[in-house]
Amino acid sequence: MAREYPIEKIRDIGIIAHIDAGKTTVTERVLFYTGISHKIGEVHEGEAIMDWMEQERERGITITSAATTCFWTPRGYLSKETNKENEHKINIIDTPGHIDFTVEVQRSLRVLDGAVVVFDGVAGVEPQSETVWHQADKFKVPRICLINKLDRTGANFETSLKSIWERLTPKAIAMQIPIGLEDKHEGVIDLIKMKAYKFAGDYGQDMTEEEIPEELKKQSKDYREKLIEKIAEQDEKLTEAYLNDKEIKEEDLRRVLRKAVIDYKLVPVFCGSALKNKGIQLLLDAVIDYLPSPIDMPPVQGFDPKDETKKIIKESKDDESFSALVFKVATDPFVGQLAYLRLYSGTLASGSYVLNSSTGDKERVGRVLRMHSNKREEIKEIYAGDIVAVVGLKSTTTGDTLTDPDYPVILEKIIFPEPVISIAIEPKTKADQEKMGLALKRLAEEDPTFKIKGDLETGQTIISGMGELHLEVLVDRMLREFKVEANIGQPQVAYKETIKDTAEAEGKYIKQSGGRGQYGHVWLRVESQEQGKGFEFVDAIKGGVIPQEYIPAVEKGIKEAMSKGILAGYPVVDIKTTLYDGSFHDVDSSESAFKIAGSIALQKAFKQANPILLEPIMKLQVITPEQFMGDVIGDLSSKRGKIEEMEDRGEEMNKVKVINAQVPLSGMFGYATQLRSITQGRANFTMEFGHYAEVPKNVAEKIIGEEK
Ligand code: GDP
Repeated sequence: MAREYPIEKIRDIGIIAHIDAGKTTVTERVLFYTGISHKIGEVHEGEAIMDWMEQERERGITITSAATTCFWTPRGYLSKETNKENEHKINIIDTPGHIDFTVEVQRSLRVLDGAVVVFDGVAGVEPQSETVWHQADKFKVPRICLINKLDRTGANFETSLKSIWERLTPKAIAMQIPIGLEDKHEGVIDLIKMKAYKFAGDYGQDMTEEEIPEELKKQSKDYREKLIEKIAEQDEKLTEAYLNDKEIKEEDLRRVLRKAVIDYKLVPVFCGSALKNKGIQLLLDAVIDYLPSPIDMPPVQGFDPKDETKKIIKESKDDESFSALVFKVATDPFVGQLAYLRLYSGTLASGSYVLNSSTGDKERVGRVLRMHSNKREEIKEIYAGDIVAVVGLKSTTTGDTLTDPDYPVILEKIIFPEPVISIAIEPKTKADQEKMGLALKRLAEEDPTFKIKGDLETGQTIISGMGELHLEVLVDRMLREFKVEANIGQPQVAYKETIKDTAEAEGKYIKQSGGRGQYGHVWLRVESQEQGKGFEFVDAIKGGVIPQEYIPAVEKGIKEAMSKGILAGYPVVDIKTTLYDGSFHDVDSSESAFKIAGSIALQKAFKQANPILLEPIMKLQVITPEQFMGDVIGDLSSKRGKIEEMEDRGEEMNKVKVINAQVPLSGMFGYATQLRSITQGRANFTMEFGHYAEVPKNVAEKIIGEEK
């Protein structure tokens, strides 16, 4: 076996956009054009291709998988033949658009090397696009932009470009200008080649390269001037040539621009209309020309499973030892569970054994599948830089690292945010109960931020997640995909309990009234721990005052009491408990007696150690026209919100205020509707989990009262 595409001919990219900008349509067109160009090599007859296109259209292109592979030869459309030699492989990684799904968004941004950011050419940069952009910033993703929908009424390339420039980055530069707008949008002008491109045929597949129309010559020249200047600035030789008015070669411009994009110094902006089939082929050229291949990015860095402080670097090479990151686990109707992974280094053959270094388990890789838009292809071996789905992993979840057992590495320490919101669900019938159990288990396997808990007292099932929408989507899937009938409760805040001080208490469970009695006796110290540090149990028993065999039972009793909650029925977190004294009885002591004693001691000590309730505090950003600002802030104050920062944004006509605030989640249910009514639907917001904080005394008393 050998690799079919050299690593520098691979692109691992995402198409990212806020909802409605056209991500789905762009992706569909990309898969369609790449499908045609890949077919040309196989079917030479023009008619056969038309047939194939019709069929493909009817069948509908599917882009539901977490990663889809396609192939593209830059500028291949001009020759009408595929030039196999210059064909590149593009893996498109799906990036969910909503902020509630933080884990999936972050995982997918992590495994891609570059991104295409899609904007609506009427609205330009919208509040939601800023969120998406900043997420990409966080992962330092090199990117190119597409101003889409230029066929829509009200479309404006210049103002859209300006909004990118002003609100997102001054690194943005126009690579193209449109030929006509709205219903006169015909094509685009490429400012590097200085040619006009039009897209004929039912699917825009018949591209033509023409001279720039007379009326656009001046505008093209002005834009090109700016573009060349920006590119030339990035390179000494080009700067010199530019200053001396020398013509710079196309390939030099591309080379220097490519480097600038990869270093995130420039962001090229393209334009067109996905729906009307304008410009997408050129966007694909740009993906190949300017977005990085796996070896253009710094090698992946992880750490030694035995010692977190020891950094390990894995080069993106086939002869490096194998390492991969699982970025999504999905249930597939045909093959069961699919784990999507990115191979960072080495090679992987189907049927081989690997180590899941995150869990320590050995796993056998069954089949390896490459997902295309219309088929899945079974492959025997994959190489560094590739993205595939594998079948057969037993205990691997999103975020896990798979490695060569002899050279283990962990690529990422997984800290999943704690679920902040929960709802109770109750199956309608016995049959639904079983189906529901199965459905929830499946969904939880796919999504590590989705948790299920049974409430023994009420017989209810409680599910928790990262936000209202997150749970809505999951419940909706359960009802529709798994056909479970259930009653759904109101969303509740996932409070937690903890302590601020230290206390000691005795737990005694002694019953000696005829026959064999019960005897468990412990002394326990509880201390508060730093937030997020979790639970710790220390065995400080000396001289065998409690025999070793009963000590695990004490810990078990403590853990049970913690999960039930002590103040108001919410789980106890971040405490350290030390078992330091106690006694036992030769005949009457048992594990169960010590378990109960442990639980009693914890409850007593906890109550004396200044117990408090913790609540999730959300980071909120509201973008509102100025005239509603007072009302928005007033409303947030009534929800115990704290305003952190306010900024002005936009220009004369559409001046807006950006409000950044921290607000307890408890006041934020249904906020979308409330904000709409306060601002006549003109404001927008995004919200994500920030941290847990102490609930003020008066509020806590109310919550505790209600629980009791
Ligand atoms: P997503 O939510 O970002 O995936 O957006 P979609 O691709 O689903 O597009 C949202 C809506 O915009 C759909 O109704 C599309 O048909 C429409 N749309 C997408 N691209 C274009 C375009 O280039 N022009 C016009 N007029 N509409 C478009």
